[in-house]
Amino acid sequence: MLSDSYGRVATDLRVSLTDRCNLRCAYCMPAEGLDWLPKPELLTDDEVVRLIRIGVERLGIREVRFTGGEPLLRRGLAAIVAETARLHPRPELSITTNGIGLARLAGPLREAGLDRVNVSLDTLRPESFRRLTRRDRLDDVLAGMAAAAAAGLTPVKVNSVLMRGINDGEARDLLRFCLERGYELRFIEQMPLDAQHGWRRANMVTADEIGRELEQEFALKPEDPDARGSAPAEAFLIDGGPARVGVIGSVTRPFCGACDRVRLTADGQVRNCLFAREESDLRDALRAGASDDELAARWRRAVAGKLPGHGINDPAFLQPDRPMSAIGG
Ligand code: SAM
Ligand code: SF4
Repeated sequence: MLSDSYGRVATDLRVSLTDRCNLRCAYCMPAEGLDWLPKPELLTDDEVVRLIRIGVERLGIREVRFTGGEPLLRRGLAAIVAETARLHPRPELSITTNGIGLARLAGPLREAGLDRVNVSLDTLRPESFRRLTRRDRLDDVLAGMAAAAAAGLTPVKVNSVLMRGINDGEARDLLRFCLERGYELRFIEQMPLDAQHGWRRANMVTADEIGRELEQEFALKPEDPDARGSAPAEAFLIDGGPARVGVIGSVTRPFCGACDRVRLTADGQVRNCLFAREESDLRDALRAGASDDELAARWRRAVAGKLPGHGINDPAFLQPDRPMSAIGG
């Protein structure tokens, strides 16, 4: 098992398949993009699958989520999904994607064994989409979501980050849009993980604000907190249910005490937290001929040292060196 000194056990693995992206979301990257990792530094498809296998077969990983950067840009994605789906016990398989290209890939990914998708969509207005992502691709994202639902990658979950002055007036529109289509919407508080270090607490649209905004139109009833488990989203039943909306108060309502996640970056580093300031290398060890046992032992040590919380609210908080896009969101 991957346990830490605070009694938490990591069973949910986030695997970043690339740090590259075809959008430039303002809360994530600068307009000019970033210096992408050179190809030789990235794990190959076989290396990714080997590490996931060790996680599943030896370390108790039960859920694998592929992310990035934009995971749909990884050419070998469907093959990696197919190999992962063959593992025993078969993990739950999902991706977090911006949805561009999903219209074409939803069917093949479903066939490869993918169970679900989370699509990130922050606005329904083409002009705000262009401003927020610096690209004109809203229609591609909407088509991708529809294709995912049609392919059975359900429930389609939608992640939205609200930015003050850009899309903070759209919470209710986004919820209405998702309810009409049977998508499950979750709002995520903006976190200090952007490459340009532009996050300011005062600008963050908080979970409380989002709740108040939604309540102007919908009756929200908190779901049984026992049902939440390690899920980061606080779930609310809408107008008596069964439809729900989630609010992830990563900053103002941290859920670190129940965290069950561990991350593998595209260049083969284990991170025990999004906000960790240290990483543990698996790639160089693997390329130097380490056995599965040795890699598993390194991975266990990396999780054992996990801190109790992300520390964003500590005065001494320091943002991690790598941005979200390079860690894997
Ligand atoms: N490119 C894919 C996407 O956008 O879904 C996967 C990677 S992205 C880093 C994963 C998630 O992190 C997205 O839902 C995105 O909105 C969210 N995200 C990125 N930067 C963030 C930030 N600074 N605060 C909160 N969420 C953020
Ligand atoms: Fe790309 Fe996702 Fe970052 Fe947006 S949030 S720039 S889609 S990695």
